[in-house]
Amino acid sequence: MKNRSIWLDENAKFGKKVNSDLECEVLIIGGGITGLSTLYQLHKKSVPAILVERNKCARGVTARSTAKITYLQEKIYMNIRRFGKKDIASKYLESQIVAVKELKNIINKENIACDLAKSSSTLFTNDIKNTELIDQEYEFLLENKVNVTYVEGFKKAIQVNDTYVFHPVKYCLALKDKLQDYIYERSKVYKIRKENEYYSCYVNNHIIKAKYVVIATHYPYFITPLLIPFKSHVETSYIGAVKVKNTKPINAINIDKTTISYRYHNNYLIYLYNSLPSYNIKNIKYNFDDLKEKYNFNYIWSNKDIITNDYLPLIGRVYEDDDAFLVACGYNTWGMTNATLASLILRDIILKKENKYIELLRPDRLLNLNKVIRFFPDAIGSIKAIMKSGKNNVNNSKVIYTKLDNQDVAIYKDEFNKEHIVLNKCPHLKCGLVFNEIEKTWDCLCHGSRFDIDGKCIEGPSNYDITYKGDDNEKN
Ligand SMILES: Cc1cc2nc3c(=O)[nH]c(=O)nc-3n(C[C@H](O)[C@H](O)[C@H](O)COP(=O)(O)OP(=O)(O)OC[C@H]3O[C@@H](n4cnc5c(N)ncnc54)[C@H](O)[C@@H]3O)c2cc1C
Repeated sequence: MKNRSIWLDENAKFGKKVNSDLECEVLIIGGGITGLSTLYQLHKKSVPAILVERNKCARGVTARSTAKITYLQEKIYMNIRRFGKKDIASKYLESQIVAVKELKNIINKENIACDLAKSSSTLFTNDIKNTELIDQEYEFLLENKVNVTYVEGFKKAIQVNDTYVFHPVKYCLALKDKLQDYIYERSKVYKIRKENEYYSCYVNNHIIKAKYVVIATHYPYFITPLLIPFKSHVETSYIGAVKVKNTKPINAINIDKTTISYRYHNNYLIYLYNSLPSYNIKNIKYNFDDLKEKYNFNYIWSNKDIITNDYLPLIGRVYEDDDAFLVACGYNTWGMTNATLASLILRDIILKKENKYIELLRPDRLLNLNKVIRFFPDAIGSIKAIMKSGKNNVNNSKVIYTKLDNQDVAIYKDEFNKEHIVLNKCPHLKCGLVFNEIEKTWDCLCHGSRFDIDGKCIEGPSNYDITYKGDDNEKN
């Protein structure tokens, strides 16, 4: 069994690095589907943009998704209606249909070999208490002129047909190939400063001056005004891929307490089991064990995404009066469509063109009372996880939490009895860490930062490592 995503069998060589000061019109930070799609859309309109990626493109969250291209997204439309108005849900649906078409068009037009396949999307429940919710989603889709039908095989289920699945890493690497002259890898942005007419972005030991900056880092750094940690939570899910004899041109997701989502890829079934707020995950190992009980998986991995309080993504200007500092994140686990949509919205903001989804998804939209109520569990969950710092009992005898040189550390003893020591504080908001035995990573419970076994940061929101350097940590 491989302890990594099935998509990561696909690999590419590192591209060039930032090794001098640079100037550009648009700097995109992050080489996942959001960053690469935005680079693609801007170049299509001849806007000189460059992209910097701290590691390799297409190795982040995008490379660990189930990669369905669909607008049937759990009971999202009913959820949006609970926190907003009916027309907001309709507009979001419309935006997702636009994005499905756009993604399909790009793949066809650019001849991208990324295993794009038509796949009917099914939304189901096997819990009698939830059948009414399926009916509500059905009614809503019908009202919005979507061709939706009831299907058999579950307590209740509906299906739409004009949806797809693909290989997300092949897609991103094809975009990278086309745009490689404008892409820099192993180039991490660690500071951004607003100067008069431009932004100074500190990358490696150099400065990139950019008129526009797009933050496409999945969890956004460098942004405090939007209070994103308090307007969202991070959800972690567990995924496996197993070889099967028969595959079907369908994908499905349920709306029950334990999330189940699946699709097929070549002769594999990709099966997602259980999604939980990251701060709730008391023992990562138990969740993987639960998943492993289902099938004899050939691949197994986890993934996380930002869930916003009103179920709408955060795409657009960070500051109301500044067209030059933009962000796209908070896709509620529907990033294939939303990253594609983001690339169109960000392109239009930069080109000063109208776009009917700018207002809907603006990141600084106001909170209403319902959203504020939903905000409390997220905020309390985060605060609890911070308070548990240094005391995360992962029920794993190979992990010890202790103090060395007056610093809180966590020590993992591997199968060769080698000790791996890290600082037990996520640099983002000082939460404690748990060891993820399957993927051999240190994971932050609050906002989902991840570090490799020796503390190198592999996923944000932290932008720093937790490597233990003895006394030197104090000096640095
Ligand atoms: C379990 C699960 C299943 C999912 N399945 C689906 C699905 O079926 N369909 C769907 O539509 N969506 C799905 N999603 C959602 C989707 O995967 C994500 O929303 C989307 O991939 C996010 O893409 P991104 O480009 O924003 O982030 P990423 O792919 O993580 O890219 C961000 C990049 O920024 C880089 N970076 C970070 N910091 C810096 C820095 N300081 N300097 C330079 N570079 C930096 C990172 O290294 C990374 O490469 C799923 C999510 C989860 C959790």
